[in-house]
Amino acid sequence: MVHFVGAGPGAPDLITVRGQKLLGEADVIIYAGSLVNPQLLSLAKEGCAVYNSAVMTLEEVTAVMAQGEKENKTTVRLHTGDPSIYGAIREQIDWLEQQGIPFDVTPGVSSFCGGAAALSHLGGAEYTLPEVSQTVIITRMAGRTPVPQEESIEKLAAHKASMVVFLSSGMIPELSRRLMAGGYSGSTPAAIVYKATWPEEKTIVGTVEQLPALAAEHNITKTALIMVGDYLGGIYERSKLYDPNFTTEYRQAAK
Ligand code: SAH
Repeated sequence: MVHFVGAGPGAPDLITVRGQKLLGEADVIIYAGSLVNPQLLSLAKEGCAVYNSAVMTLEEVTAVMAQGEKENKTTVRLHTGDPSIYGAIREQIDWLEQQGIPFDVTPGVSSFCGGAAALSHLGGAEYTLPEVSQTVIITRMAGRTPVPQEESIEKLAAHKASMVVFLSSGMIPELSRRLMAGGYSGSTPAAIVYKATWPEEKTIVGTVEQLPALAAEHNITKTALIMVGDYLGGIYERSKLYDPNFTTEYRQAAK
């Protein structure tokens, strides 16, 4: 059996209770060494075989899974954040299905949630503010992995929704330019969150236009999220759900 587990964004106590239990029971752990906090490996039981997928190919990862299955072992495949976001789990799952190897997935706290928590004292706690934006766009710049044309930064920027950009901290000047070309004004609030929930976490706030200078000043080149949108600003409407004049399934409005 193979368990895909989301490790969370960094802080070791942000793994789920289920993920923690599975890690403690595993005979084999294959972890994404580039971003998973190695402290999580101290949960492994004695004799557990530990592999770092950062130095492995898909074929090497699946070979370890196949060997584990042959020996009737339990394997945990530990992915950073939540495995459904840039986790490359689909190709592993399809292979497991072809081989008839059972698997399941335990979600994790994605870094975009860790990033919002990190900005909670700086106005960034909620992506979905009433009358500001009710949509979160999770995307990336094209790098060695291409992005479909219809999802170019310019096209997505035209929505002026709340945006979180992954895997792009090395391309911030181009990102800033394209965000503005697409529709955000240069003065739209923006933030860079470096290593959210890790001890070395940095939160940097400014505007879309200031992003390149802020990234250079703080030396941000990797492991960061770029967050953009008016949700980082100060203007919004309070929620209907908690409005005394609004009836919900659970509560009558005041007369
Ligand atoms: N599955 C992961 C994302 C993996 S892609 C998740 O759900 O978060 C790797 C990218 O995620 C990095 O380039 C960076 O943009 C972002 N990232 C991962 N952990 C981060 C963290 N703690 N703080 C800021 N960005 C992070």
